[in-house]
Amino acid sequence: MTVEVYRGIDELRSALASVRSAGRPIGLVPTMGALHRGHGSLISRSAAELRPENGLTVVSVFVNPIQFEDRTDLERYPRTLDADRRLCEEAGADIIFAPTAREIYPDGFSSFVDMEGEFTQKLCGRARPGHFRGVLTVVCKLFHIVGPTRAYFGEKDAQQLFLLKKMAYDLDMDIRIVGCPTVRETDGLALSSRNARLAPQERAAAGCLIRALKEGQSASEDRLPGTAGTARAERAASVRASLIAAVEGEPSARLDYAELLDAETFGPVTDETGRVLLAVAAFFGETRLIDNVIADVGSGGKRDESR
Ligand code: AMP
Repeated sequence: MTVEVYRGIDELRSALASVRSAGRPIGLVPTMGALHRGHGSLISRSAAELRPENGLTVVSVFVNPIQFEDRTDLERYPRTLDADRRLCEEAGADIIFAPTAREIYPDGFSSFVDMEGEFTQKLCGRARPGHFRGVLTVVCKLFHIVGPTRAYFGEKDAQQLFLLKKMAYDLDMDIRIVGCPTVRETDGLALSSRNARLAPQERAAAGCLIRALKEGQSASEDRLPGTAGTARAERAASVRASLIAAVEGEPSARLDYAELLDAETFGPVTDETGRVLLAVAAFFGETRLIDNVIADVGSGGKRDESR
């Protein structure tokens, strides 16, 4: 299956016009390229869902400059379009949209999607001010350019997924935002385009993220004798302390954040919380990695009371 690569907005729109006017659905997978199996899983999911409806899958490959607060990180971001094209073909994509920065942000560009409230200011938002404004703006533009029926995003970027769902809801975008599970290496490390930058020793150390998260997940879900009735907020605080200790215990890791939040509201964990998001970010050398898991504490809470 050959994948067409489009560079310009107008040529992409013309290619998609007949698809749209025939009422065929379009799936969009926004990426920054340097594609790996994690991206591949989003593309295959879109292809599997849309092919039976005679739809097609568009993968955007665009290293979005306005979501990088660090110029070196932007410049060092891997760009591998030929390999990306092969992965797209194997995963079942139909079209790649790989615009230049100038195509997306021509001279005089000055409109942005800004989300108010604390959602954008915690986790990665606190560590990377302006990051989500850049993400929401580019995804909003891609939605307008491509006109997808569905858009696929990874749960690895949990805050991004939460904010995109909120943007689509707040701004009445008639697009289904589909979250896809995190694809991992055999030791559990979440696949990321940034993993390629890790030195061997940093790569080995990076395994501490998922180990810490898994321990935190079972500690959150466990109903240990003597802890029945412990308020979930208290439990969350103690799990957070162990998460921090576990990552800080790895000499090659520099912790950025470790947080537990209510996965539905992105607010603090309370006794009403049913699913807890455990999220961490840490530097290994110059490379910042993030990961998260969900702990189901909802029904467990009821089990507590019946002990
Ligand atoms: P990126 O190219 O890093 O901007 O990622 C593009 C999309 O792929 C985002 O929706 C990510 O959440 C998703 N993604 C990145 N890594 C993974 C992974 N390991 N598993 C599943 N999805 C991923």
